[in-house]
Amino acid sequence: MIRRLAVVSGSVLVLAASSSAAVADPGPGNGLGGHCGSGARTLSHFGDHVYPDMGNGGYTSLHTDVHVVYDAPSNQFLPGNHVDLTDRATQCLNDFSLDFERTSVDPVDGPDMSVQSVTVNGRPASFRFVQPTYPGDPNGQDDPDPRAHQASQVTPVGGPDNNPLPPACSPEVTGDDVNAQNGDPCPANKLVITPRSPVGKGDVFRVTVNYTGRPGVHTDGDGSTEGWFRSDDPPGDGGFVTTEPVGTEDWMPLNNHPTAKPTYDFYDTVNAGRTAIANGMLLSTRSNPPDSRFPGGSTSFHWHSPATIANYLVENSVGAYDLTSRPGSDGIRYYEAQGSSLSDAQKQANLAVMDQQQDITNFQSQFNGPFPFTSNGVLVGVPTAGFEEEMQTMITFEGGRIGLRTFNHENMHQWWGDNVTEGNFNLTFFKEGMATLGEYLFNARNAQTAAGGPGTAAGDAAFEQSLVNQFNTNYASTRLWTAAPSDPTPASLFSNSFTYTRPGTAYIALRQILGAANFTQALQRIQRDYGGSSITEQQLEAEFHRFLPNHSHACDVRLDQFFTQWFDTAYPPGGGANRPQLTGPGLAGPGFYDPNGRCV
Ligand SMILES: [Zn+2]
Repeated sequence: MIRRLAVVSGSVLVLAASSSAAVADPGPGNGLGGHCGSGARTLSHFGDHVYPDMGNGGYTSLHTDVHVVYDAPSNQFLPGNHVDLTDRATQCLNDFSLDFERTSVDPVDGPDMSVQSVTVNGRPASFRFVQPTYPGDPNGQDDPDPRAHQASQVTPVGGPDNNPLPPACSPEVTGDDVNAQNGDPCPANKLVITPRSPVGKGDVFRVTVNYTGRPGVHTDGDGSTEGWFRSDDPPGDGGFVTTEPVGTEDWMPLNNHPTAKPTYDFYDTVNAGRTAIANGMLLSTRSNPPDSRFPGGSTSFHWHSPATIANYLVENSVGAYDLTSRPGSDGIRYYEAQGSSLSDAQKQANLAVMDQQQDITNFQSQFNGPFPFTSNGVLVGVPTAGFEEEMQTMITFEGGRIGLRTFNHENMHQWWGDNVTEGNFNLTFFKEGMATLGEYLFNARNAQTAAGGPGTAAGDAAFEQSLVNQFNTNYASTRLWTAAPSDPTPASLFSNSFTYTRPGTAYIALRQILGAANFTQALQRIQRDYGGSSITEQQLEAEFHRFLPNHSHACDVRLDQFFTQWFDTAYPPGGGANRPQLTGPGLAGPGFYDPNGRCV
């Protein structure tokens, strides 16, 4: 994701009091061997304060069939609209939960939906909406203490009542003060489903949720919004979907955590003349005659993603779009879509950039390894959303235009974030740093081209020098060091300094420490080992350790210190000594090895 600067508010960032994350206690009813209980209502850990309410345990999300029935002029899901979620129980389940925000603090652009019925394996199930509880609450997920269900940017909640407990959810910020809602009650967005009979451990089961109403946007911890944006150009056009980090729950119920990665099929039925655009490949379109829901007729689109998709990367935009696709010479199908209402001149300008996706993909494959998906694509929407996003195989650009540098950023995400997903919301820096590195590689490539091109001595030297210059410029900054990338608040999660630039700079240093060839091998190894799944910070760092050219104990210790300094340390202001003191060979700063290439 890249936020457009114009919409970043002037909010004062307040840094979190750091807490050591313990392994989650999933609460009563879990871990009882063969006994049945409730699935955990979060995938977060005790003390987490970045979207701690998100995700649901007790089962693994395998596949989702999205059956959207959408009337674009009224912006409404119609009867028949539903999702089918196929899950596998990891424990015996009396009940389990999903994330679904039916209404929000935003009465205009927020959602206004209702659930009609839920079935499990085709049999009616009862359902209710409850507030989240802070992860690991020893009093259980229905703790009678209202303080166990409060929002905050930080842990503990604090707030007007000095609540000493961790937060159960992140605030939905509507004003300038991001801490104003610390201590407010969390909304009841956990959809708890109780099947007629328990689901046995290991059983694969299918959950159907029938719902209608108006999809909308989620209001985030930093006051921005994401989700299903109304597209009203031309009036009644449809919806533009871009959802990081949690806005998918504002248009469909799901297991809304980046580590829950089912595969997807999308079966969208929309007004005749509209186009539905989702992830993966478009397998079929079918025209339907007029009926009571669509007096003017309708069209059904079937998109299929054989690859798993994390919560915030699910795409499903509907509107008047010019959609084309072409097979690339690399065997990947490339989709291009842009709003039909854009001017011809704007469309041509956009296409000049959009047409470069195969070239970008080929360039980035030199570092990341083979492109992980069977298709790739880009969608330029008309509405203003405030950010561009790496929707899987269908990158979204807002506001009717696309830029090449940001295109490189978002395409880099297809490997980093999309194929290999962060293991929790606080690890957003891992993949934003890699996407920022994608921008630095784009700049280096331009320098290489200007100096004679790849394979020439001058060109290759210019490539390397560009990265070194980028590092040195960033390292001289005083703005990057006062917050730890791995410990953001919801309000600072998309901070340019801490979530993007600092880890992106660290990856340049890491490339110098490992050597360019070893760094490339490490990236490709991570893709092979964690592709289709997610990775923790510890797992990420262990992979880079494998490719240290010097395997002495001292070098391993030093690399651990490097990661601690760059990813996990908040320094006092001022820069200088108050910044990482391990850099890399050929870079500004103290370096990493001694003159003999050792770590003693
Ligand atoms: Zn990004």
